[in-house]
Amino acid sequence: MYNNYQNHLVKIIDEIKEAGLYKNERIIVSPQGAEIELNTGQKVLNFCANNYLGLSNNPLLIEAAKASLDDHGYGMSSVRFICGTTDLHKELEKKIAEFFSTEETILYAACFDANGGVFEPLLTEEDAIISDSLNHASIIDGIRLCKAQRYRYENADVADLEKQLQLTHNQRFRLIVTDGVFSMDGNVAPLDKIVELANKYNAMVMVDESHSAGVVGKTGRGVTELFNIKGKVEIITGTLGKAFGGAIGGFTTGKKEIVEILRQRSRPYLFSNSIPPMVAAAGIRMIEMITETNVLQDKLHYNSDYFIAGMKNLGFDIKPTKSAICAVMLYDARLSQDFAARLLQEGIYVIGFYFPVVPKGQARIRVQLSAGHEKEHLDKAIRAFEKIGKELGVIK
Ligand SMILES: *Cc1c(COP(=O)(O)O)cnc(C)c1O
Repeated sequence: MYNNYQNHLVKIIDEIKEAGLYKNERIIVSPQGAEIELNTGQKVLNFCANNYLGLSNNPLLIEAAKASLDDHGYGMSSVRFICGTTDLHKELEKKIAEFFSTEETILYAACFDANGGVFEPLLTEEDAIISDSLNHASIIDGIRLCKAQRYRYENADVADLEKQLQLTHNQRFRLIVTDGVFSMDGNVAPLDKIVELANKYNAMVMVDESHSAGVVGKTGRGVTELFNIKGKVEIITGTLGKAFGGAIGGFTTGKKEIVEILRQRSRPYLFSNSIPPMVAAAGIRMIEMITETNVLQDKLHYNSDYFIAGMKNLGFDIKPTKSAICAVMLYDARLSQDFAARLLQEGIYVIGFYFPVVPKGQARIRVQLSAGHEKEHLDKAIRAFEKIGKELGVIK
């Protein structure tokens, strides 16, 4: 039987390759960081990690993780409600709630699970979810698992959101859902206006702070800090896999009754393993660190401003951004691939994105800044962009 199916798969794989969409993975043989080494022996500067605060290889987090291996062991071998909850899990949940000025937190194995498990237990067919058209795949999948009516509004378009709120006025409860930062442009959701509309139309708000936690806002509390509405949204989801240390884990934080129901009914929480104690221990240390001082957040903001100013100065077309994501617009798919390949030869690791990851004719190189970058790294990247940009006729 497998023969037929094998041929079927090989055909699909060939189609993916012919379309130029086949993803090849580069193999890193060093720790994650600003400077990484590939298995080819090449050392490159990394400008495509979500390592926004440079914590992926932070000595204090490693020390906290190592210490917990001695006093809490390696794995939990259980979901939370059976025997998978340690004092470290509870402590991290409390710390995350303090950080975001929310009431209660529930941990998941990943933010993909947090989003996958948040809608179904909370809303039914009597309710409506109104979702930004560029929301993350995990939000889209989570909504699919829920019986609530589904509505979409154009990316960050509050006029369209208002239309959807008017359309859904007969639904019992309504939840507006948005990413805090959209990963392809780096633009920030207009959360101040969204919360205003939610108040006007008696709806609730959920924001996924995966790309904004640790990044956006003066102290990195995310989009609710940027718009001075901390504690004003009902649900925040986020990841420990980006700015927050970069290992693994996700969370939902917000109103305590919402979290209480999730602990009872959220399927990825009930039927999937607890994060290992070392991840919780390092997470606790991470929150303490970025609460005690603001040096990493300040450095990230400085680095982002510095890089973007340098690129604009050279004449590159940069998407407006309030995050650590800088989209260098090239528009042409082929050009984005050639440009990224040439940059790698110059020791700068970035990725070129094109349709269908971004709209047709909107190809780009996405640069992600980090507090782990030093000024010399930024200068080297800017110089490489200048060199290749001139070579490929993108800038004069
Ligand atoms: C990365 C990301 C996720 C997934 O986070 P994981 O913890 O890696 O599963 C979810 N939502 C958004 C907006 C993201 O950017």
